[in-house]
Amino acid sequence: MNRLKEKLVKFMSGRYGVDQLYYVMLVLWAVLMVVNIKVDSLILVAISDVFLVLAIFRSFSKNISRRSGENQKLLKVWNLVRRKVKLFFRRFKEIRVHRFRTCPHCKKTLQLPIKRGKNTVKCPRCQEKFEVHIFL
Ligand SMILES: [Zn+2]
Repeated sequence: MNRLKEKLVKFMSGRYGVDQLYYVMLVLWAVLMVVNIKVDSLILVAISDVFLVLAIFRSFSKNISRRSGENQKLLKVWNLVRRKVKLFFRRFKEIRVHRFRTCPHCKKTLQLPIKRGKNTVKCPRCQEKFEVHIFL
């Protein structure tokens, strides 16, 4: 058993292994397989198998910098989506106290107190002033 473990460790040394993109691909493969139970499509099986083959290929790949770059792209998108979802729920949670507006110059989301009507706001990040309309 130890001999098999040593061979496996030797085989995997210098290879990329698993990361977040690997798990995303496995989840996509599983979801497509579950959907395929209802749909029963050969094309869906082919697409899901592509995800599985890519996940396995990536984990055994020796081009670590490229695989890491691919994972970083996924994490960038993931963090953006997570931030947007968090802000969405925060808007509802603080609906009685704050309004959220995006600075047109630096695109930072600002948390503003509720002052109904037309207001001039100074962005704390870029120091630019811009008009804000708060109706409700
Ligand atoms: Zn700004």
